[in-house]
Amino acid sequence: MNIEAKDLTKIYGAGEGRVTALDHASLEIAPGDFISIIGPSGSGKSTLLHLLSGLDRPTSGSLIYNGRDIYELRDKELSVFRRQRIGFIFQQFNLLPVLTARENIIMPLLLDKKQPDEVYLNQLTELLGIRDRLTHLPHELSGGQQQRTAIARALIAKPDIIFADEPTGNLDSQSGCEVMGLLKNIWRSMEKTLVIITHDKQIAQMAERQFMIVDGVLSEVNAV
Ligand code: ADP
Ligand code: MG
Repeated sequence: MNIEAKDLTKIYGAGEGRVTALDHASLEIAPGDFISIIGPSGSGKSTLLHLLSGLDRPTSGSLIYNGRDIYELRDKELSVFRRQRIGFIFQQFNLLPVLTARENIIMPLLLDKKQPDEVYLNQLTELLGIRDRLTHLPHELSGGQQQRTAIARALIAKPDIIFADEPTGNLDSQSGCEVMGLLKNIWRSMEKTLVIITHDKQIAQMAERQFMIVDGVLSEVNAV
C-alpha cells in the first residue's frame, strides 16, 4: 500500500488547556519501507501513530491509502479496514486477560467471522517462539512472550503494514532485543511495511528511514 499523510494536525482540549500534540505532520510511506520515529516523551509519537493507523482522527489533514482518504470512511468501515489491512503493536501488549494466547491471536479474525489459516498460524507462532504457549493465559507468559503473542495477533489477518508504538518499552533489554530482531525478520521475510516508534536511538537506527518528532513537529533525519 502507498500511504500519504498530509498536514496531520491534532489539537486536544480548548482555551487554557489547549495542546497541539501534532503540528502539520506529512510523510509518504512506500510498500516495504522500514521507518522509525524517535522523540522524547510527550512529543506526539503515539498521537501520530494512532492517526497514521486510523485508530484516531486528526483535527485537520488527510491520510490517503492507495488513493483513498480513509478519514472519509465511517467509524465502522474504518474499524474493518484497520482490522483487515493494518497491524498494530502496543507498548502495553493490550492482550485480553481472560483469553488464551491463541484466542487473543485469532480475535481479529473472529470479529470478521473468519477462521484462522492454521498453517499460517503455526508458521507465525513457530517463528515467534510461542507455539507451545498457545493455551496459556497472558499472566502465565513472560513480558517478551506476551509481546510476541501481540505481534502474532497484529499479523494474523496478513496486513501489509505494521505499526508498533514503543514495542520494547515494557520489556527488559534482552527481551526487547529479541522482539526487535523478530520484527525486523518479519519485515524482511514477509515483505511487510514497518513503522516503529521509539525513544531509543539504537532501535531507531535499525530502520532504513529515520524520522524525529519534537513538540509535535515531524522531520526526516536521514533524508538525502
Ligand atoms: P508521546 O507518545 O510522544 O509520549 P503523545 O502523542 O502521547 O506523546 O502526546 C503528545 C501530547 O498530547 C502530550 O502533551 C500529551 O499530554 C497530549 N495528549 C495526548 N493524548 C491526549 C488526550 N487524549 N487529551 C489531551 N491531551 C493529550
Ligand atoms: Mg507514546
